[in-house]
Amino acid sequence: MTAFQGKVPPIWLKPSVYQALGKHLASALPHEACGVLLGAAAAGGMRIDTYVPMRNVAPDPLHAFVPHPADWISALYLAPPPIGLFHSHPLAAPQPSSADFDGLTGLGGHFAVYLIGAPGIEPTHSILLNGYGIQRTRTEDGDLSVSLIEAQLQVLLK
Ligand SMILES: [Zn+2]
Repeated sequence: MTAFQGKVPPIWLKPSVYQALGKHLASALPHEACGVLLGAAAAGGMRIDTYVPMRNVAPDPLHAFVPHPADWISALYLAPPPIGLFHSHPLAAPQPSSADFDGLTGLGGHFAVYLIGAPGIEPTHSILLNGYGIQRTRTEDGDLSVSLIEAQLQVLLK
């Protein structure tokens, strides 16, 4: 079962990452955009330094995302490996869908950050962005349970 619970450390984005997410989201419209996030733990939170876009090869890219296998493989072989995943909801609020929850269990253990973006209201906001921490717990049966916890998201000033 997946659910929101508890509190997680904040997520900080470099301004260049925030801009790159908005740019990819806009250029992919009306399709969903997806990519991985590189960064590190920093000052009690997670700092995202770099965004690496991936091609979306979902059969229905208007409502789903499936990273191009070659893009996904090369992302996983980055050193250090990505710590987060981003995708966009062109037509819906930037909140996890049931398909998003289903996809969580397929993410490797080093994925700690989950970002969802949606087109913002011009001219003030180019992108609406929600950030979540990925939490893994073992159930009493020993099964892995993966959940998302809404995190405070901040864009660094520089
Ligand atoms: Zn989604």
